[in-house]
Amino acid sequence: MAWQIPLSDIDIGPEEIDAVQKVLKSRWLTMGAVTQGFEQEFARFTGARHAIAVTNATAALHLACIVAGVQAGDEVILPSLTFVATANAVRYVGAVPVFADIEGEDNFNISPDSIRQNITARTKAVIVVHYAGYACDMPRIIAIANEFGLVVIEDAAHATGARLKGISLGNWGLVGCHSFFSNKNMTTGEGGMLATQDDAVADRLRNLRSHGMTSLTWDRHQGHAYTYDVTDLGFNYRIDEIRSAIGREQLAKLGKNNARRRTLTEMYRESLAEFVPEMNIPFSHTHGESSCHILPSLLPAGTNRNQFMDAMKAQGIQTSIHYPPIHTFHAYRLENFPHGDLSKTEDVASREVTLPLYPGLQEEQIARVVQTAAAALR
Ligand SMILES: *Cc1c(COP(=O)(O)O)cnc(C)c1O
Repeated sequence: MAWQIPLSDIDIGPEEIDAVQKVLKSRWLTMGAVTQGFEQEFARFTGARHAIAVTNATAALHLACIVAGVQAGDEVILPSLTFVATANAVRYVGAVPVFADIEGEDNFNISPDSIRQNITARTKAVIVVHYAGYACDMPRIIAIANEFGLVVIEDAAHATGARLKGISLGNWGLVGCHSFFSNKNMTTGEGGMLATQDDAVADRLRNLRSHGMTSLTWDRHQGHAYTYDVTDLGFNYRIDEIRSAIGREQLAKLGKNNARRRTLTEMYRESLAEFVPEMNIPFSHTHGESSCHILPSLLPAGTNRNQFMDAMKAQGIQTSIHYPPIHTFHAYRLENFPHGDLSKTEDVASREVTLPLYPGLQEEQIARVVQTAAAALR
């Protein structure tokens, strides 16, 4: 479908094309110097002590669970209102995802009170998701984790470049997991990054990313090593030079593009408040400096969401739902996975509609989205 206003759009220019050509001409395509440069620049931009590039954020979440020491039979608390990858990573290590509720209508992030209510003797870790790039209540969550001896993992897939109290999201917990999937704030097509402040954790992550091997093909190419040992059950979760080259260019634009997203989000908030006051935009209070990854909205109770989305579609405007809650999926049937009260998650998930947001969106297009939404609701 050729949307007049798509849900999201990427910002790719001659810089990325040139960077990819340079890599191809260099004749070294797998993880090497360009990836090292990407990792260093990412670490500098976010203030992370270590940044470790991987094939995608799902792989990052898997490795995060391993280095957090999550084992078969352990429980990990996470929101149900997230992308399914957050919970799948827990299951990859044989652990049990335990779904916690969100804070409420104005804050779709995991509720610290709900985390506390779901802790048992088997709880090992908490995975927080900074929904749309708005920070979870990290000071309270870290305090709860410390009280019960839990590890905190951050799913920062929406939140690259976002901050809370001057600290980048992804740098609060033991490990932060960033995504460079095609519709994220910066993209490499497929790609991801692990962030950690812990030297030993970083060493283990680097090792696990590449088969548990003590040296890389790159090291041997450079003449630094002839052989290697295998010290852990690792994976092939490497990125490559082509995607890292794209990532460096995308990272250079991220600050500007996130600022643009914040400006557009403000425009939406003002315009919707004026013309469609019955639609609510969450995160109306500040939650640090958001990366404004998406523009979630809440339809009034009783609205037929499919009809609303159809009316938008008829005008060439793409909308989406973030998210169908994980505990409602077949593969996550309620009876198999424990959870407490998820009534706020269920209410929000039934009324949420995501509106178009991307750096290239124009003010006139926001006006069209808002006017079309107003007409659709009347
Ligand atoms: C995109 C996304 C992921 C998965 O990222 P990939 O890089 O596609 O593996 C995980 N969690 C959330 C919240 C996401 O939005």
